[in-house]
Amino acid sequence: MIYVDQLRKSYGQLEVLKGVDLHVDPGEVITILGPSGSGKSTLLRCINYLEKPDGGDVYVDGEMIGYVKKGHHLQDVSPAALAKQRANVGMVFQSFNLFPHMTVLDNVMIGPIETLGRKKRDVRPLALDYLRRVGLAEKADAYPRQLSGGQQQRVAIARALAMQPKAILFDEPTSALDPELVGEVLRVMRDLADTGMTMVVVTHEVGFAREVSDRVYFMDGGRVVETGTPAQVIDNPQNPRTQQFFQST
Ligand code: ATP
Ligand code: MG
Repeated sequence: MIYVDQLRKSYGQLEVLKGVDLHVDPGEVITILGPSGSGKSTLLRCINYLEKPDGGDVYVDGEMIGYVKKGHHLQDVSPAALAKQRANVGMVFQSFNLFPHMTVLDNVMIGPIETLGRKKRDVRPLALDYLRRVGLAEKADAYPRQLSGGQQQRVAIARALAMQPKAILFDEPTSALDPELVGEVLRVMRDLADTGMTMVVVTHEVGFAREVSDRVYFMDGGRVVETGTPAQVIDNPQNPRTQQFFQST
């Protein structure tokens, strides 16, 4: 479903991604763990082209993001076509990023209406259904500031789902939450994993990674230094940096 080949990204002189390979099969849940500054967020941002990589390729469902085939040549896509490609991959951020001046329902409906050009009357029942799935149908007319952090993050997940993406990327979705609100968000993510959604999750929740993910990638210094099942990478790491990381958590 997602195939990343030798991804490279620098900010000025700082090489943040030094050739990252990653693949995610349909329905797989992948967690990315690693120390602060190792490039986890940059990797997610490059996968859905919030940042343009300097080198390497990203394929989603067989399509190379950022490019279209013209005969035997690759050509940069138009901004509109890139927006369509990017819509295949949803993203949920640490900081929710809801629109404060819009109701919960409007936050969930805006993507399909603005980006996919769907009609409001068609999107509305779908959006309500996604809100129901995250347990927030009764908050449809509330504004984000009237919700707890956990509820706002569940709205953000419903908003990602409303785009009917092929995969969803989560960047530390519970890191900004008070401890007692973490569980409700992880529960929604677990349910989502059970429905077969393809997910890539950057997280510090080692318990979640162990229970829910099919495979773990451990990153350090802009590289994937170890990958495998949670039992392999978390409980029996082979790389010294991975060993050190899980000893201290
Ligand atoms: P954390 O666990 O703290 O979220 P991370 O693994 O997500 O860390 P990144 O946010 O990907 O790490 O950052 C990797 C490196 O790239 C860091 O050194 C960071 O300072 C740098 N960096 C990230 N974004 C930018 C940017 N827009 N401009 C310059 N440097 C950046
Ligand atoms: Mg990060």
